Order: sequence, then structure tokens, then C-alpha cells
Amino acid sequence: MIAYLEHFVHGNDTESRPDDDVTEVLDLQLKGTFDCVHTGIASKDFGGIKSVKPLAIIRPADADDVARVVKAAVTSSNLTVAARGNGHSINGQAMADRGLVLNMRTMEDYFQVMPINDSPYVDVSGGALWEDVLRRCVLEYGLAPRSWTDYLSLTVGGTLSNAGVSGQAFRYGPQTSNVTELEVVTGKGDTVICSENQNSELFFGVLGGLGQFGIITRARVVLQQAPDMVRWIRVVYSKFEDFTEDAEALVSLQERGFNYVEGFVFVNSDDPANGWPTVPFPDQEFDPTRIPHTAGPVLYCLELALHYRNTDHVSDVNMDVDRLLGGLRFIEAFKFEADVEYAEFLLRVKRAEEDAKANGNWDAPHPWLNLLVAKSNILEFDRVVFKKILKDGVGGPILVYPLLRSKYTRMALSRNWNFASSRDQGIPLWDSRTSVAVPESEIFYIVALLRFTPPAPQGPAAELLVAQNQEIIQFCSSRGFDFKLYLPHYQSREDWKRHFGDQWTRFAERKANFDPLAILAPGQKIFPRIH
Ligand code: FAD
Repeated sequence: MIAYLEHFVHGNDTESRPDDDVTEVLDLQLKGTFDCVHTGIASKDFGGIKSVKPLAIIRPADADDVARVVKAAVTSSNLTVAARGNGHSINGQAMADRGLVLNMRTMEDYFQVMPINDSPYVDVSGGALWEDVLRRCVLEYGLAPRSWTDYLSLTVGGTLSNAGVSGQAFRYGPQTSNVTELEVVTGKGDTVICSENQNSELFFGVLGGLGQFGIITRARVVLQQAPDMVRWIRVVYSKFEDFTEDAEALVSLQERGFNYVEGFVFVNSDDPANGWPTVPFPDQEFDPTRIPHTAGPVLYCLELALHYRNTDHVSDVNMDVDRLLGGLRFIEAFKFEADVEYAEFLLRVKRAEEDAKANGNWDAPHPWLNLLVAKSNILEFDRVVFKKILKDGVGGPILVYPLLRSKYTRMALSRNWNFASSRDQGIPLWDSRTSVAVPESEIFYIVALLRFTPPAPQGPAAELLVAQNQEIIQFCSSRGFDFKLYLPHYQSREDWKRHFGDQWTRFAERKANFDPLAILAPGQKIFPRIH
């Protein structure tokens, strides 16, 4: 198919003309299709705060289509290209103002499992949804990726461009640490296979690279045997110190510990969206009379999961759970448990999505904030942010759980619980060669404010919630916290430089190497297009 963008721009949509480019004819020999008129999906994202109109949305069929589009932009004087995964960004990161948006979901359904005994992997399209990867790997092969996100209607390329974090990351690192090879279309339009040993600068650059260096068209994801079942547990704390100490002890256990460790803050009230009812599993009760009188405005829930097989004896599973929970300081009356199939556990947020769609909160604005905060600052963060600024909740989950930069040997652990001097013995879980920016601290917490409030006027105006996010960021900065934004979003080059810190030079060099005209991912607002 020969696509003459100019024709469509002139013919149907003069409003969205890119000033200089309207005179240029982009001759795209695509297998896929494009549309200059019905571009609505590309000017929206889950955040619902930003909206810009692209020149066209393109539905690539394969990596060759992606390369053709990028090459066409290279030859133009000012076109940009944004890969759009599933558009679950918050601040317009997958948008391109009067540029070309590639809908990566339309890429051909590439899926190939190599069930090699000791190191199985799957090759998947960058536009595949993780929930599809899960279903096919588990149902067809009994295998599964090791590291997930909580919610799986996100694309492989989209989460790998950030990090991809969930309750397995303490053991396997983020998703960016669980891929061994990528096929990438660079900002020059070259299609390159890269890995730790081949074109490694591109490989590590693209992982957590916010789409700046290349478009991921295929990823090789490490797999492991999938369990059949999961014992899913929630225990409640009134003291944040007890919660964090127990959570840190559990993530430090690694191999003989839980397979999933997360946590969340909830309001000490009967509020259905923020309070006690958000903790128990279906058909279980939260008895508020058992809350200690000393408890404050918020409580904390540790969420844990242990994998097992259908052939495992239930008494062995119980014994393992008792061993792991023994010695923890949660409030004894608040222990909730459920046994669910592995895939059901991983798809748990799908139910929340269905509920939010039914009550209209899914399509409302979502001014979410995600932070990575050093262990040394998390108690003060709790005192001010959780207990004061957010004491009434955010209308949805407030996640908080520890992550480890490195995995430690048992010897290092027994010698030094706090890791202060055992840094050299760790195996990196967050590979510093990737582009992901994390705090300096060996242990840091992910804090996620997953706001789900009805649109104004029923709920607060989005601007107020954005301002509250700014207040929290400002608080962390003013106290000199060791923290980073996860899924970062800034307006100025200075802020981006501060975000990357001493990694900025490397980040800018990678940009100059792989996308010298700054064509890719303009919605991140890091590098302006070079004309
Ligand atoms: P998009 O939003 O479409 O794109 C994000 C960025 O990546 C853009 O800059 C885009 O240009 C670029 N990009 C997209 N595809 C590619 C590609 N193939 N190659 C190169 N660049 C590309 N994150 C977690 O880590 N853990 C979670 O548990 C988690 N849960 C979430 C739950 C919900 C309900 C939502 C809305 C988000 C959640 N996220 C989570 C955040 C999520 O990882 C990011 O928003 C991610 O960017 C979304 O992926 P996407 O496929 O929609 O990407």
C-alpha cells in the first residue's frame, strides 16, 4: 500500500497540518494501514490529563513497517514517531503532537516458545499484552515469565521501556532484568538484534529507556515452570515500623521465602474505596473491633503469595506458610487467606478494572504518582505523606513495598541484615547498565498512588490531585530524600538531568547514537526534535 500522507492531510484535516511537512510526500510502502482522520485513540491515554493530536496513526504489521515509518520521519524535516503500547501512560508519554503514532498492538502476533529444560524462553512481539503472554505460556506450555506487573493489559514494549515492577521483583528484579534479547528499530530506522553480548549499548539503553533509543518490536523473555496454585495472604499492621521490618525480612529471604511480596496503606475507617473493606478476600470479614486503640489514621497490609503444585500436600503448604509467617508482627486477628489458580492470581487486577469500568472511574482522569523512595527515608515519608497528606486515601490502592537493588548470598545475609557493608557480594537485580534510574539505597520502596476517583464535580478536580502529587514530590526534594520518580514525567531539561543524575551523560550519548534527530517518543519531552 502506498500512503500519501500529504494527500490525506490536505484532503481531510487541514487543522493538523505540520507546518513544513505538508509539502512533503511520505511514501510508505506499508503492509499495515494508517489513518489521518480517526486518530482519537492516539490523542488519549489512561491518565486522561493530556491530549495532543497526531498527524496520523499507523497500524504496523511488522518490524519492517515500523522501520519504514521511522525512515520516513528521518527524511522529513520535523516529523516525530511515538510507539503506542496500550496507552496506559499517565502524562502523554506515548503521544506525538502532529507526529506519527504507531499502534504497536496491531503488530503481527509473534509468539514462539523455546521450552529448553534449564533456560526456557519466549519470543514475543513488542506490542503483545502481558495477559496474552501469560495465557499462552501457561496454558500451552506450563511455563511463565518470572517477573510481572500487577496489571497485565500493558504491552511488553511499554513496560520494558520503563522497568515493569510487581511483587516478584525482590527475587528476579524488574521485567527489564528478565529479557535476554531484543529486536529494536532505532531512531535511524535500522532494525537491530541486541543482547548483553551483541549491540549491548542499544540493548541496555532501550531497557528502561522511555522509548528514546528504539522501538522494541520483539523481546525474548525468560520463562520458568508455572505453579498450579497460589496461597494468597493478607496480614494487617498498625505500626509502619513493624510493617517495614517484616517486609524487608521477607524479601531478604529470597529462595525459601514467599514468591510475591507487596504491601499497601489503607485508611482506618469503613470507607469502601479506601478503608477496611479493601482488605479481606470475598466472603471474609474485617472486624474493626480488633484494631488496637493506639492505631493511627492509616493501617498497613502486607500482601504475600506462595506458589505450589496440585500434587503438593495441603499440610506441607500450611507448614511453609506458618514457617514464613511465624515471628512476623502483624495483628493476629487480621490474617486473610485464599487459594487461587496461578493465572487467576496474576489476572487479579482485571476484576478491579471491570468494576471501575462499570462505575465510570476507569475513564475518569488518573493523576497517578509513582515513586521509588530509599529505605532511610521511608519512615519520614510515612509520617508526613501517608499519615497526613493522604490520610483520607486516594480512592484506590496506595502501594508500598520494598525492592532490593541486589540479591544477596545467604552468607552475606546472616552476617549483615542491613546490607551496609556487603554490597560487593550481591548479584544485581536492577542492572545499572540499563537506563532505569533508581535511588542509591540498597533497599528502596515503590510507592504508588493509584488514584481512582469519580470525575469532577462528583470527585475532586484532577488539577487538585496533580497539585497534591507536586506537594509530595516537593516534600521529598525539600527533605533531601534519596528518591526517583518511577514512570517519570518532567517539563524541563534541568529536571530530566536531575532525574538521571550521573547517568545523564550516558543517556544523552545513547540518544545521539541511536536517535540523533530525536524522532522517537516525543511525548516524554526529554529531547526536542532536531530539524
Ligand atoms: P504506553 O503507555 O503506550 O507507552 C509508554 C512509553 O513507552 C511511551 O513513551 C511509548 O512511546 C513507549 N513505548 C511503548 N511501546 C514501545 C515499544 N514497543 N518500544 C519502545 N517504546 C515503546 N507498571 C509497573 O511497573 N507495574 C505495575 O504493576 C503497573 N500497573 C499498572 C496498572 C495500570 C492500571 C496502569 C494504567 C499502569 C500500570 N503500570 C504498571 C504502568 C505501566 O507499566 C506503564 O504505564 C507502561 O508505560 C504502560 O505500558 P503501555 O503498553 O500502555 O505503554
